[in-house]
Amino acid sequence: MVRTLIILLAMCASPHSVIAGSADIGDPEIETINDHEFAFDLDGSRISVDIRDRVLREKKDILLAWVVYSAQTVHRYYGRFPVRTVHINLQVSAGYTVRFGQAFGGDKPRLRIVVGENVTPEMLRKDWIMVHEMVHLAMADVPQRHRWLLEGLATYVESIARAQRGYLSEEFVWNGFINRMPQGLPQDGDQGLDRTPTWGRTYWGGAVFCLLADIEIRRLTDNRKSLRDALRGVLDAGLSMHANASVMEVFKAGDGATGVAVLVPLYHKMKGDPYPIDLDTLWTNLGIAIHDDSVVYNDDAPMAHVRMQLLKS
Ligand SMILES: [Zn+2]
Repeated sequence: MVRTLIILLAMCASPHSVIAGSADIGDPEIETINDHEFAFDLDGSRISVDIRDRVLREKKDILLAWVVYSAQTVHRYYGRFPVRTVHINLQVSAGYTVRFGQAFGGDKPRLRIVVGENVTPEMLRKDWIMVHEMVHLAMADVPQRHRWLLEGLATYVESIARAQRGYLSEEFVWNGFINRMPQGLPQDGDQGLDRTPTWGRTYWGGAVFCLLADIEIRRLTDNRKSLRDALRGVLDAGLSMHANASVMEVFKAGDGATGVAVLVPLYHKMKGDPYPIDLDTLWTNLGIAIHDDSVVYNDDAPMAHVRMQLLKS
């Protein structure tokens, strides 16, 4: 079954604060298959990149470096690249930025990413779309009413994975979460995540679900386990984008991997009920606030220990 996941341009972040980082896995050797197709192996996964447009092909070195960096970032978060093979089509448009992407599942997953013809190394370093689309590869194809899970995971994990690799500052991530997560809160008439397919509930409502799950897993295990362990368990169960699955299969696999019941009960609370979250209280308990556009930390807050670890591992 093939499905399409469309990134909305409105999600595009303000300029990222990018800092240096290092990969846990070495840089792969790029193979030239023909004049427009390139490929590399990453820890047993085969990633091929198709660049048919002549203008983009002149930038192939910086584009391939961006694909490698994104794949390494996803590999580090999940402990592997999520699928055995993926074919990435880079297509051209006007402009200086990465414009949008789509992920297609099935036996041979592929990504379609549209890139501005004047893109620069600096803009590629700031891009979040390639990592977002690669995160989609790490989740099974679930029924359409659960699209909030797919987009919420991609939205949340993209930031966490890039921060854990050292490419986003903690300040940037928390600033983004504090400013954007309110878009995921229920509005009048909300019927829960499964039955309210608005943009806000799909992307940021799903991200709120992920944040709450991450915090609760860490709280219950005294920071020994996290959402990352749950998602690695989902891949261990074979539930990557190669597979079709129910969300209960996904959540049970995740809870089984961490040893604490978090995903299943949280899903039952949020699937058919607005389940409003007091984000201001959550930020206070984590010990973060924004003053004059800067993030201010309170390390004496009751869940500061969870917050301090969340962007590290
Ligand atoms: Zn997406």
